[in-house]
Amino acid sequence: MLTKLLRRETCAACRQCCHFDSYDIWDTPVLSEEVRYKAQKLLPDAEFVSKGERSYLFRIPAMDADDRFACPLLDPAVGCMLGTEKPFDCQIWPFCIMELHGRQVITLAPICNAVNALPVGTLLRFLKEELGETIFAYAEKDPDVVRPYDALYPILLWRPQEI
Ligand code: SF4
Repeated sequence: MLTKLLRRETCAACRQCCHFDSYDIWDTPVLSEEVRYKAQKLLPDAEFVSKGERSYLFRIPAMDADDRFACPLLDPAVGCMLGTEKPFDCQIWPFCIMELHGRQVITLAPICNAVNALPVGTLLRFLKEELGETIFAYAEKDPDVVRPYDALYPILLWRPQEI
């Protein structure tokens, strides 16, 4: 979904978004029932916890010695084992859908250097003309992907009142 902003090679060389530390452990991917089923087939030993009405997160047994947790679906050699069927929030990352004062906002994860280096006008145009509506529509269908607002994430777009 972000090929107009991010080159695949850039993501392949980084994969920061598939690693988490104590601060952003809340940002592990939200797995729909369908994605959880695929993940379970790929990773028979994986365990999950419920999130919201009908979604799941990976159960995280412990952080490693460097206070890091790598998504179990990350294959260091090939990237995400789910390929194009990765969770929705991974498809739109580093954009995130959050809720602030009862209203949804699209924010930008501060740790993605490649997208944060782009002019903010480019990001706003992309969201307004291409991705924003898709994100709000998905959140309407599956509210489990909406996270509470985190003040470190700049807000780029508020959900229009009329949607
Ligand atoms: S599901 Fe795939 S893209 Fe998402 S964090 Fe895990 S490895 Fe990365």
